[in-house]
Amino acid sequence: MHAFEFMRPADPATAVATAAQAKTAQQGADIRYVAGGTTLIDLMKLNVETPSRLVDINRLPLDKIEATPDGGLKIGATVRNSDLAHHAAVQRDYAVLSQAILNGASAQLRNMATTAGNLLQRTRCAYFRDTAMPCNKREPGTGCPAITGSNRTLAILGTSEQCIATNPSDMCVAMAALEATIHVQGAKGLRAVPIGSFHLLPGNTPHRETVLEPGDLITHVTLPPPVSGSQQVYLKLRDRASYEFALASAAVVVTIAGGRVTRARIAMGGVGTKPWRSPQAESALVGQPANQATFRRAAEAALRGARAQSENGFKIELAKRCLTHALYMAATA
Ligand SMILES: Cc1cc2nc3c(=O)[nH]c(=O)nc-3n(C[C@H](O)[C@H](O)[C@H](O)COP(=O)(O)OP(=O)(O)OC[C@H]3O[C@@H](n4cnc5c(N)ncnc54)[C@H](O)[C@@H]3O)c2cc1C
Ligand code: SF4
Repeated sequence: MHAFEFMRPADPATAVATAAQAKTAQQGADIRYVAGGTTLIDLMKLNVETPSRLVDINRLPLDKIEATPDGGLKIGATVRNSDLAHHAAVQRDYAVLSQAILNGASAQLRNMATTAGNLLQRTRCAYFRDTAMPCNKREPGTGCPAITGSNRTLAILGTSEQCIATNPSDMCVAMAALEATIHVQGAKGLRAVPIGSFHLLPGNTPHRETVLEPGDLITHVTLPPPVSGSQQVYLKLRDRASYEFALASAAVVVTIAGGRVTRARIAMGGVGTKPWRSPQAESALVGQPANQATFRRAAEAALRGARAQSENGFKIELAKRCLTHALYMAATA
C-alpha cells in the first residue's frame, strides 16, 4: 500500500475543513474520511483508492441512535452496522432495515462497518478492483470490459453504455424502502438529501457515484416515523447463504387492510446501479387485492425496463420471483 498521512480530528468542523481541500469526493479522491475501513482499506490495498491523506472520523460524536421529535429515528454516521441491526427500536419499527443489515457481510465486518461507510461502499465489479484492467469508473474513458466480459453479477437496471456495475449494499435497499434522508455537513453548511437522490446513475460519468462534494461529511441518517400496521420483509437471494452479495434482493414495506394493499414502498438490490426504488411496483400494488397475481404484476412492473448482458439475463426472472415472494412473506407474516 502507498504511504499516506493520517489525522484524527476531534470535531466535525475540523474534519470538514481538512477534507474540503480534496480535489474530488469521487473516484480518485486524494483525501478520504475513514470510518470502519472495510471498504476503503480493502481498495487501498488493491491500489484502486490511493488517498494521500486519511481523516479518521471515529472520534467524532456521530455514534448515537436517537428518537427524533417527530417520532422517527436519527442514526449517527459512525453507528456500527451490528449496533443498528440489533437496536430495539430498529427491530421493532424498522424490521426491514435490521433484516437487510444482518443479511450482509459477516458478524466481524458488521461490527466494524458504519452507517455512512455502508452508504458509500463501492461496487464489487471485478474489473473495477483490478488495476491491470480498463474501467470507466476507475479511470474515465478507458472502457467497460464487463459489457462484453464477465457480467453475471452486474446490473440490469439503470445501466449505461459506460458502466453496468451493481450497487452492492443491502442496508441502502432497506433505507430506500423506508425513505431515509441523509444529512451532510459540508464546506458550505448543512444539507439533507433524500436517499433516492443521493446515489447517481452511471450515465456518461460512472466515476461520480453520489452527490457528495469535497469536504462533505455524512453526519447522520434520519428515518421518518414508522407506519403503524406495516409489514416489512427483506429477502436476499445469493449464491451461498452467508458472506455473499445479493444477486437479487427485495425490501418491502406494505400495509394491507381488508385484503387489499393500502400502502407500498418497494426497493430492490443486486439488480440496479443504485439502490433501486420501484414506484412502478408500488403503483401496481396500491388498491389491489393482496394476492399472488397482484404481487407478480408488481414484480413485472418493477423489472419492465431491465436490460440484460451476456451472462446476467437470469437475474430478470430471479428478481421478479424475489419480489413476488417477499410480498407473499409480508402478506402472510
Ligand atoms: C468481504 C466483504 C463482504 C461484504 N458483504 C457485504 C454484503 O453482503 N452486503 C453489504 O451491504 N455490504 C457488504 N460488505 C460491505 C460492507 O458493508 C462495507 O464495507 C461497509 O459497510 C463500509 O463501512 P465502513 O465504515 O467500513 O466504511 P469505510 O471503508 O471506512 O469507508 C467507505 C467509504 O465511505 C467514506 N466515508 C465513511 N464515512 C463517511 C462519512 N461520515 N462521510 C463521508 N464519507 C464517509 C470513506 O471515505 C470511504 O470512501 C462486505 C464487505 C466485505 C469486505
Ligand atoms: S461495469 Fe463499471 S465498474 Fe465494471 S468495468 Fe465496467 S465501468 Fe468498470
